[in-house]
Amino acid sequence: MPDVVVVGAGCAGAPTAMLLARAGYRVTLVDRARFPRDTLSTHYLQQPAVALLRDWGLLDAVHGTGCPHIARLRYRAGGVSIDGPLWTFDGIGYALGPRRYLLDQLLVEAAVAAGVDFRPGRRVTDLIVEDDRVAGVLLRAGTGAPERLRAPLVVGADGMRSVVAARAGAAVRVTDPPRTCVYYSYWPGVSDRFEIHEAPGRWIGVVPTNDGLTLVAAYFPQSEYPGVRRDAGAAYLAAVRDTAPDVQARMMAVQRAERLYGTGAQLNFFRQPVGAGWALVGDAGHHKDSLTARGITDAFHQARLLADSIGTGLDLGSPDRLRPALRRFADRRDELLRDEYQHTLTLARLELPPRRLASLRAVSEDPVRAGGFFRSLCGHPFQDRMRPP
Ligand SMILES: Cc1cc2nc3c(=O)[nH]c(=O)nc-3n(C[C@H](O)[C@H](O)[C@H](O)COP(=O)(O)OP(=O)(O)OC[C@H]3O[C@@H](n4cnc5c(N)ncnc54)[C@H](O)[C@@H]3O)c2cc1C
Repeated sequence: MPDVVVVGAGCAGAPTAMLLARAGYRVTLVDRARFPRDTLSTHYLQQPAVALLRDWGLLDAVHGTGCPHIARLRYRAGGVSIDGPLWTFDGIGYALGPRRYLLDQLLVEAAVAAGVDFRPGRRVTDLIVEDDRVAGVLLRAGTGAPERLRAPLVVGADGMRSVVAARAGAAVRVTDPPRTCVYYSYWPGVSDRFEIHEAPGRWIGVVPTNDGLTLVAAYFPQSEYPGVRRDAGAAYLAAVRDTAPDVQARMMAVQRAERLYGTGAQLNFFRQPVGAGWALVGDAGHHKDSLTARGITDAFHQARLLADSIGTGLDLGSPDRLRPALRRFADRRDELLRDEYQHTLTLARLELPPRRLASLRAVSEDPVRAGGFFRSLCGHPFQDRMRPP
């Protein structure tokens, strides 16, 4: 019997499994998918996420996929231009944009190398509950008979529609309506930097990724989703043309490399993250609009927080010992995510009010304010540790 079952082997579950295995626990990691698998993402890993990959010994492997360093930002909003190098977090002065079928596969391989028993192609359908505690999972391979997998701790890392959260009865503590929808595709060589182009009702994000491709994403208000999805290709191109004409000119000089991807499921919520015998990490416990590109960074940091909160040598079978460790994780998680949730909701309104525009203009004209702007880009929890390039 494992000490921990982690459900979901994405960028929250695989590092959680890896770190707990490195801490000496017997960990089984299950995923309904077979890997490598892709997932919706604009791939942007902020410097604090890159720093964790380095700390975990995985950065060389990510560089080995050929995804370029992203060392500069170009920001355009209402005639204001801000350009400059990204600040440094813990010695890392660049972001990365690895494709998810590469990144998530590397994370799973790292978990397996740490001793995790990885079982792909298995869907968790329910939890085993005994004496009011979660005591394992029921899982199924294809149409086979359900299997029982018992463990004193079940970690739900199974994404925003988490079965673990639903079956454990995790309460939704905060929820806000979706604010945006997004479409994106890949274009050869459109940019070598992270770009954001903002206009009222539109937000264009540009991220260089693997194979010389650049991801170009267009965000729209959620209220426009039914209309946008009727002809997403035309809406996407018109949004880029009207908001970021220079990006559109670069796109028109090349051929689109892949189909268009998109979603309106930009959910915003916090779920109760822990309970008797269970915890949630990543999108399973908290989700917010993707336009601030924080989900992977948040997932990595939640994996670290959970593993640190449990520590080494804990008797996970003892509810009295496990409970305070999970409580520590829950408190630290909320501290990590609270402010950036509000900030993301504000930006996801896709408004460009005069006060914010005036503040962006001041940033573009004053090097001291520009420093504050670049320092704050990775979010409130990290800004005290950001250093100039
Ligand atoms: C359009 C878009 C763009 C984004 N762009 C960025 C970005 O640029 N930067 C960033 O940091 N974040 C971004 N995000 C957010 C980021 O992708 C997510 O926050 C991140 O993938 C969450 O990881 P996760 O492991 O929690 O969940 P997921 O990646 O969803 O992984 C969940 C895993 O659980 C498995 N699973 C689900 N149900 C079951 C079950 N019942 N049994 C077994 N396995 C199960 C799934 O197969 C999957 O592998 C974006 C999101 C979207 C939608």
